[in-house]
Amino acid sequence: MSYDIAIIGAGVVGSLIARKLSKYDIKIALIEKCNDVAMGTSKANSAIVHAGFDALPGTLKADLNVKGTKLMGYLCEELGVPFKNIGSLVIAFNEEEMETLTSLLKRGEENNVPGLKIIGQDRLHEMEPNISKRALGALWAKTASIVCPYELTLAAAECAVINGCELYRNFEVSQIDFDNEQFTVKAKTGEEINAKYVINAAGIYSDFIASLIGDESIELVARKGEYLLMDKNLGGVVNHVIFQCPTKMGKGVLVTPTVDGNILTGPSAKDIEGKDDISTTSDELNMVRTYTSYSIPNVKLNSVITSFAGIRAHSTKNDFIIEPSKVNPHFINVAGIESPGLSAAPAIAEYVEEIMLDTMGKLPKKVKWQRTRPEPVRFRELSTVERRELIEKNPAYGQIVCRCETVTEGEIIDACHSTIPALDLDGIKRRTRAGMGRCQSGFCGPKVAEIISRELKEDLLDVTKFGRKSNVVVGKTK
Ligand SMILES: Cc1cc2nc3c(=O)[nH]c(=O)nc-3n(C[C@H](O)[C@H](O)[C@H](O)COP(=O)(O)OP(=O)(O)OC[C@H]3O[C@@H](n4cnc5c(N)ncnc54)[C@H](O)[C@@H]3O)c2cc1C
Repeated sequence: MSYDIAIIGAGVVGSLIARKLSKYDIKIALIEKCNDVAMGTSKANSAIVHAGFDALPGTLKADLNVKGTKLMGYLCEELGVPFKNIGSLVIAFNEEEMETLTSLLKRGEENNVPGLKIIGQDRLHEMEPNISKRALGALWAKTASIVCPYELTLAAAECAVINGCELYRNFEVSQIDFDNEQFTVKAKTGEEINAKYVINAAGIYSDFIASLIGDESIELVARKGEYLLMDKNLGGVVNHVIFQCPTKMGKGVLVTPTVDGNILTGPSAKDIEGKDDISTTSDELNMVRTYTSYSIPNVKLNSVITSFAGIRAHSTKNDFIIEPSKVNPHFINVAGIESPGLSAAPAIAEYVEEIMLDTMGKLPKKVKWQRTRPEPVRFRELSTVERRELIEKNPAYGQIVCRCETVTEGEIIDACHSTIPALDLDGIKRRTRAGMGRCQSGFCGPKVAEIISRELKEDLLDVTKFGRKSNVVVGKTK
């Protein structure tokens, strides 16, 4: 197949770029090595839309963070993605940290972050009654928000697909040739596609993808961050995103509500060998527990329902790298997109759009471009009347499969046949929340596997958790 643009990597960055470029009358391929979109860092992060006072003034990170945060609320509304503007607080425990708050405020103002304010102890404890009594004050950033990062990625990719972009899953790029003004992008499996331009949005692997055209300029360090996710019964323990003062390894351990009402705490920060190790460790999680207790002393740490880890793509240049490659200007690197990459992603997409228009020249726009995607049914959010009406139309919405999160069979069936169908248990989980609750799919997992098998006409033995060899049933006992 031949395309104008091939985008490698269907994380939040690649998917939002695909959506942005899908408004032009050109052929686009979005290529992903995994069984689904949002399988890299975009599914495992703090899910904070940062206000923008962390990055150094004058960097791309600072500029695109503030611009992205400004765009995010409207974008989420347009795509029907959960988003809440709850604000953030960086807390200080001593006078030295109070001075850090002043520097962060100054930096934020230089970065054009609106609505920043330093508040004293009384106001802080009024806003956050469960915060440590030792906290002296905080930097309050009203524009900080929380979002569902994997749903944003999925929604962006779905919107791109609706507008004609072709998604290739399980396509692990292992070779790229350039001949006759055209790239041939080859997968490990032998499959190949041609494209006039390539956008490298492969996250932690964007250094490897660049090296396939002989561009060795990108140096990335894999920095793992581990988290604890707590049960919804802890909901309300904090109302804002609570940060501690940042260190040279990052923004430190935060405590935050999620858009779904859980409490998330983490991440740790540890440079690792290799790029794929997303295991969690007792050492790092104990560290997360300790730092969480500094901020919120009586948080019930026995309410943890799961732990997970994500990998930061830390560039040794300490900034985002978004530019045509020096080796081939038709190859655009979008690399080193570590935090605040999620917040910046909507603005990164606009920035890349400008680069593509500069490189490719004026592009014709589609007569009809759809800016959204069909929003999924979220049964748990409906009123009794709405639920009844839905069940009358389709009784599958009357069958609760995941009791922890109130997810119905109808929603799981929808996910199996959506614009980008879920192909495995984790795909269903990210689209519907079946398995995201307290039991972590202990009860609903087998039923969800049966529904996938039935709907996708796949043998139950072939149903997987996340593609590859992660089969959930290993054999028949009877
Ligand atoms: C611990 C942690 C906390 C964070 N917290 C926040 C936060 O609160 N707020 C914020 O703004 N940012 C945060 N970030 C940063 C944010 O998560 C990332 O910047 C963002 O998700 C990067 O998106 P991406 O699309 O570039 O990368 P990814 O989501 O990793 O996407 C890259 C995709 O490329 C695919 N790929 C790789 N190699 C190949 C190949 N050979 N062929 C085909 N496909 C390939 C991968 O499978 C993957 O799907 C955090 C990051 C971490 C690790």
